[in-house]
Amino acid sequence: MAASKSLLDSLKKPEPTNFRMTDFRRELHLRHKREEHAKKEKLRALQESKYVSRYAITIDTSRARSNCDVLRMSIKELGFKEYPFGRKDNCCDVHWHACHFEENPEVFGGKVNKFPGMSEICSKMTLFRCLDIMRDLFPTDYDFYPRTWYLPAQFHEFSCEIRKMHERRVKPKPTFIIKPDTGAQGDGIYLLREPNEYSSLSGKCHVAQEYMSNVYLIDKFKFDFRIYVLLKSLEPLEFYICQEGLARFSTLPYENPTNKNIHESFMHLTNYSLNKRSSTFNRSDRDDEGSKRTLTSVLRRIAMNGHDSNKVWKSIERIVCKTIVAIVPEMKVEYQAAIPPGKTGPSCFQVLGFDILLLQNLKPILLEINASPSLSLDSEQEVSPGVFEYVLSPKDEEVKYPLIRDTLLHVVPIDKLKYFRKKKKQRLLKKLKASTSQKSKRPDPPVKQRTSIVIIKADESDEEKREVNVTQQMSEMHMDVDSHGDSTARDVNSDDERESNIKSDTELDEEVDNYFETKLRESCLKQLYPAIYDEECERYRILERVAGLFIFFLGIRGSLRIGPTGFRTFARKCRLNRKGMTNASVDIMYIDLQRRWDHMNPERTSGSGIKSIGLCYQGFLDACIEIARRKFYAPTKIEMLENLVDHCELNLNLRDNDLANNLPRLHFRRLGLQYRQGSMYAMPRRVIDQMTEETTIEDLLKAHEKKLRQPSREDIEAFLRKSRRMIYQPSSGSRVISVTKSPDSE
Ligand code: ADP
Repeated sequence: MAASKSLLDSLKKPEPTNFRMTDFRRELHLRHKREEHAKKEKLRALQESKYVSRYAITIDTSRARSNCDVLRMSIKELGFKEYPFGRKDNCCDVHWHACHFEENPEVFGGKVNKFPGMSEICSKMTLFRCLDIMRDLFPTDYDFYPRTWYLPAQFHEFSCEIRKMHERRVKPKPTFIIKPDTGAQGDGIYLLREPNEYSSLSGKCHVAQEYMSNVYLIDKFKFDFRIYVLLKSLEPLEFYICQEGLARFSTLPYENPTNKNIHESFMHLTNYSLNKRSSTFNRSDRDDEGSKRTLTSVLRRIAMNGHDSNKVWKSIERIVCKTIVAIVPEMKVEYQAAIPPGKTGPSCFQVLGFDILLLQNLKPILLEINASPSLSLDSEQEVSPGVFEYVLSPKDEEVKYPLIRDTLLHVVPIDKLKYFRKKKKQRLLKKLKASTSQKSKRPDPPVKQRTSIVIIKADESDEEKREVNVTQQMSEMHMDVDSHGDSTARDVNSDDERESNIKSDTELDEEVDNYFETKLRESCLKQLYPAIYDEECERYRILERVAGLFIFFLGIRGSLRIGPTGFRTFARKCRLNRKGMTNASVDIMYIDLQRRWDHMNPERTSGSGIKSIGLCYQGFLDACIEIARRKFYAPTKIEMLENLVDHCELNLNLRDNDLANNLPRLHFRRLGLQYRQGSMYAMPRRVIDQMTEETTIEDLLKAHEKKLRQPSREDIEAFLRKSRRMIYQPSSGSRVISVTKSPDSE
């Protein structure tokens, strides 16, 4: 009886979950395990490497080429260690390369200043295609770039459009600009007014764009802005904008395009590399003069002309955010191809250069993104007719040096940075002690000359200068400390002397402690995402979920294209047949889109250089949009797509796996799930604006009440902890906000 009972029990007992797993879940489980294992291996290898210096912050500049000067200056100021020839084991904290990510396959750890596939993504065709997709989904929000056609594939549409414009007698006569897909520095660019002026003989791909003729002029010259953006990480998404940039001016006074002046590149193109060859290039060192100026000087000029320059800057910030959000899905696809889960690889960051033109009505227009913006500090100067010399360009230095210094500070490993600070402090205290004991032994300390920078600045009662000096000259601090001690010791007895030394000791101690925090606070880099535009950009991030599905069904790791089997599996696992998609219709759709995209993207190859077969991500996205339109009808395109993605994710049961953790939280809310990554919460600017020193956590919770996104107490606390380092600039000067907790919140 007992035996039969236990038999019954065992029959009732649920099977071990492993047995109930579908193939698909098991695959997920195994993948997760593999990734965990790979991560552990990577860490172990890094820790065990006998060459890895554990505490020095090391920067590999062996392939930095023209970036070397500015890097070296920054490394020296920050006290990091440079490896100009690289390290044998290739283990540096930061690898700064002037070439593409793919050209350095042997970097396995640390951080690299390039994302995989970024140069492809920033090529004009891919970039504007990404933006076109977004414009299709959010027509009013993505109106900040010129209409674009992809040649030769869209030559027919392009010529039809020109013909239509001629028929409508559009005034002024429309002009178009033709740019090679992968061109740079104005190479191969020309303007045209008739389609037959397009030459496709080179066999290269081009983009044709509406020529924006109604541009804002300064001193009668056309100009564009170079805005620098630090893309610090992809997962979670985090990027910063540099608050200083460059404005590059053309060198012939601007006139609206006519058949006569259409070939004047010094009038219509603003590239520095092109205009520096012009005899009228103005090399003035003055801030508000010359053919190259600082961004802030031009914004000041715009304000002086009676316009709202703050509004212009805000619009530029928004363009940056929307553009980055548009390219992130492509970046994720490229990233998994270069560094598939399970393979050790570096993490990446990148400094991007956005070229932005200003229209007469002050609307900024995005022209392109540069994956490798020039970081050189020198410029060519004609010393005598025909003889050129490279000289340091103060304007380049003013912009690029803080940019690179602050970028390094943002990307070096934070735990090493802490240790680095501690070490500096210990060394300083040791020096202080030694100097104090020496002084107490000395009967009558000799009167020293004022060698201390700190004292000189203090005497000058110029607090600002003193602070800047102290923080800038970290290496001079040891000297400052000695001389500070000496000078105070001159007029006091030994007890007072010790007291004053202790005082100065703690003062300086604090200064050292705050060194990096001050640097980060004074940083020229301002966090755009997630700090400011998190909420605003959330709805644009739907395509990341589509990219997630694409990556999920790629099948072969390291691939960029989905094969027919993968596509069929996608349809089957997402149960699209229940929505009326037959196998045959899925296959037809695949073949059709694959052909179309091969034709549209003839130059696109896989990372290895071999042309890969299958449907690329943009083709897959096209398929999703088509399926959504046919089977998930809703009033708007974006809603249709959201419905499709929701349906797929629910059928794939992506709630608890690693992919789901990477999905935007909007999706989680829709599924009724709690978003667990508290640190991802970013406080709305409206709430930050109202914060004072007395604000409590309860006040902040109340401020969110009845809002769509209701953060938890942990979210808010995590944000405040994080934002201790956050720079916040309300209209009047910059200040850092810290909030005192209420007693009951302790
Ligand atoms: P490149 O990568 O070769 O520098 P850009 O797209 O930056 O190509 O274009 C070069 C220059 O041409 C820009 O600096 C700008 O002055 C001008 N330009 C480019 N596109 C347009 C446009 N659509 N309308 C007006 N001017 C443009």
